[in-house]
Amino acid sequence: MLDFELSEEQRMLVEAVRKFGKTEIAPYIRKIDTDQKLPQRVISGLADLGLLGMSVSQEYGGADADPVTVGLVAEELAKADITCATPTFFLVQAAWGHIFNKYGTKKAKEAILPKVTKGEAFIGIASTEPDTGSDVANMKTNAKKKGGGYVVNGEKMFISGVGEIQNVLPAGGGYVMLAKTEPDKGAKGISLFYMPIKGTKGVTPTLLDDWGRRGISTGGFAMEDVEIPAEYLIGPENKGFFLAMEGFEYARAIIGMVCCGAAMASLDHAMEYLKIRKAFGRPIGTFEGVQFKLAEHYTRMDALRLLALRALWQYGREMKTGEGRFLTALYCAESKLLAPESAFDAINDAIHWFGAFGYTVECPLELALKGVRSYYWAEGTREVMRTIVGRELMGKEYVVTR
Ligand SMILES: Cc1cc2nc3c(=O)[nH]c(=O)nc-3n(C[C@H](O)[C@H](O)[C@H](O)COP(=O)(O)OP(=O)(O)OC[C@H]3O[C@@H](n4cnc5c(N)ncnc54)[C@H](O)[C@@H]3O)c2cc1C
Repeated sequence: MLDFELSEEQRMLVEAVRKFGKTEIAPYIRKIDTDQKLPQRVISGLADLGLLGMSVSQEYGGADADPVTVGLVAEELAKADITCATPTFFLVQAAWGHIFNKYGTKKAKEAILPKVTKGEAFIGIASTEPDTGSDVANMKTNAKKKGGGYVVNGEKMFISGVGEIQNVLPAGGGYVMLAKTEPDKGAKGISLFYMPIKGTKGVTPTLLDDWGRRGISTGGFAMEDVEIPAEYLIGPENKGFFLAMEGFEYARAIIGMVCCGAAMASLDHAMEYLKIRKAFGRPIGTFEGVQFKLAEHYTRMDALRLLALRALWQYGREMKTGEGRFLTALYCAESKLLAPESAFDAINDAIHWFGAFGYTVECPLELALKGVRSYYWAEGTREVMRTIVGRELMGKEYVVTR
């Protein structure tokens, strides 16, 4: 059975998010980007709508939301905030809140997740290190058992949300973090931990100065003999790499929706201009050279929207039935492979149609261009996506990074 209808609940939620986005976010995106932070009003509004950590169980204040619903919300947030800062704040917590909710210990979840769903703390992902990103299994951060817990040493870098944890949210927050527990075993010696950042002894955070999506920070943190309790282990020891892939897959599919939202909103914005701006005595939108490109970009983004929705649907199907592990990896990677580049190309042309005005900051679309560009890297590069798609098609023995 194939059904493109939204449920009544989904329709109402999308409508509520759209209204919130139109009034509380869209008019302020330049300010969000300049101030380099989301206003407290936006964070509280997202929490009041039940959107923060919405994939988390209701017992921790979440909405138990299914992946398709999460994707629809992400798309609406991206239509409102084409800089992609608000959608990133949302999607990282939806994907990694889900992993923490699914595999974390009850004690840790009770302590952390209610703060996340109230918008008082942030939960993100810390995988990348100064010397390794795509090659996850080559990371250096390690966790050694000591007493009843673990001692962690290492450094994470290019991590979303460090500034929000350090400087914005009252209860701080932390990361679903990968660390080696058996360093000689490659991917099979990595475990997942919850690593709190703010005020944690031995943790030294840093902030980076990104040129896009500036409403959410990127930073890093060094860890020197950081002691964490045993209940901060997420899932079984040495299974962390595989559990993290589940989180990356979820995030990748949501990013597909975010790219579609930002690109389609940019095309809509440009379309209004194409109707009123005249050259050679007629609206520029009547030139085939312009209108055909608009049609192509819109069609491509519409197709990618379906690809992202299919990935989210499959993600939810696997959650419910345990079926289709490889399809989930494939669909999520396909979506993440094509959506950022196609969105970038669409927005780039939309800016071009504004003529010289498109090169001024009066035209907001440069914010969208820089926003979707971040997803060429974040949650895995396009080369890694090609590697995954190739692996799922040809089989593990042909993996290009073997
Ligand atoms: C805005 C932003 C936010 C981010 N947020 C987070 C976060 O919250 N948490 C987190 O853990 N990480 C985060 N990242 C980091 C992101 O996951 C990494 O940038 C990404 O995984 C790539 O790693 P790297 O930057 O170390 O590049 P590298 O892995 O060093 O790669 C460098 C280049 O080589 C290419 N390359 C590598 N291997 C191959 C190959 N086999 N074949 C062909 N080309 C290859 C890559 O595609 C890339 O273009 C973020 C990045 C950005 C830009």
